[in-house]
Amino acid sequence: MDLFDSYPRYREEALFYRRFKHADILPLIDLHASKGIWQVSTAGLSFEGREIKLLRAGRGTVKVLLWSQMHGNEPTATMALFDIFNFLEATGDEFDSLRESVLNDMTLYVVPMLNPDGAERFQRATAQMIDMNRDALALQTPEARILKGLVETLKPDFGFNLHDQDPRYTAGRSPKLATMSFLATSYDYELSVNATRMRSMQLIAYLNQVLQEFIPGQVGRFSDEHEPRAFGDNIQKWGTTLVLVESGGYKGDPERRFARKLNFVALLSAFEAISSGSYQTQTRNGYESIPFNSRCAYDLVIRGCTVRQGEQEYRVDIGINREEVNSSDMDGGFSWHSTIEETGDLSTCYGIEEVDGSGLTFQAGQDATATEVPTAGDVATFLLTQDGKVRYSIENGVVSDPDTD
Ligand SMILES: [Zn+2]
Repeated sequence: MDLFDSYPRYREEALFYRRFKHADILPLIDLHASKGIWQVSTAGLSFEGREIKLLRAGRGTVKVLLWSQMHGNEPTATMALFDIFNFLEATGDEFDSLRESVLNDMTLYVVPMLNPDGAERFQRATAQMIDMNRDALALQTPEARILKGLVETLKPDFGFNLHDQDPRYTAGRSPKLATMSFLATSYDYELSVNATRMRSMQLIAYLNQVLQEFIPGQVGRFSDEHEPRAFGDNIQKWGTTLVLVESGGYKGDPERRFARKLNFVALLSAFEAISSGSYQTQTRNGYESIPFNSRCAYDLVIRGCTVRQGEQEYRVDIGINREEVNSSDMDGGFSWHSTIEETGDLSTCYGIEEVDGSGLTFQAGQDATATEVPTAGDVATFLLTQDGKVRYSIENGVVSDPDTD
């Protein structure tokens, strides 16, 4: 089985950029509804009245519920779900037997884009400005009531809770970005492990093995601290084996297309493992050996540049992050804002991009807000000079080298 290499055949070309909206996926869902394998219904309405769609396929006894984008600005898995829809509808290729066993053994219930109002604004929260993943108990959002209702009526054996994570997470204290992270959510503060949670650990251990082939050292494990208000924790408590999937960063891939492809591989591999039971040979240790997500990367680190302050000189590292800021008047709906996050000794941190600042001197840039000394919170616009000549110019966090540009 080579899902990874075959992926381009099934990729949904209509979803190319992350900032698609509910109106963009409705015609795609209509198209799938006509393909025969799906039964499409409306699970309910969002706060602003958008129809939250539920797609059902398969005739098996094992029920699997997947939902994506409960956080409106986390669309990677939604795109992968449409890739998977295309895959499941195809016939006459080397995956026919995989499809057949998945659709015979399992019934899939899929909600792509559980928070369409948030997706409309490309924000985490719903239209009520509530994080619906902290609303599993209070149930003040219609979206949370829809998800709880699905879990109560379907009583799924397995649940996949699909998110995007901070693209700067690394796998453990290594410089490698956690391109995919997982969590077998905890159902109590003691982090107990019953049979339900054990299955989710085994499945994740299996998925880690699958993904190591494509992203060696780049699979992480999310913090397993219990969050009593979150859906993942409660669904595990209510008896569904719950796997939290987080799509992360990959160098040079701000649209997270690589993580999207890995979602395709991981979810289909999970289906196969559930239908064959093969994941059951995995161990808790296999799960616990996955390194925790760690916050030790910046988008850009300048290493050891010289700062002149009055008559004195010293060396610092400068850590810079680039943040996406929504702005409707920009092409694509956002712009990049880069700030200096930290200066000083950043020897325990990594830069996804690094510039060797040895022998170079910091010089405040053209930006009016920049001070003479690199300062956390300043816009990341400055120069690095050598013998009075500009060696690098950093503008809004983007490095340019006048010698080569
Ligand atoms: Zn999320």
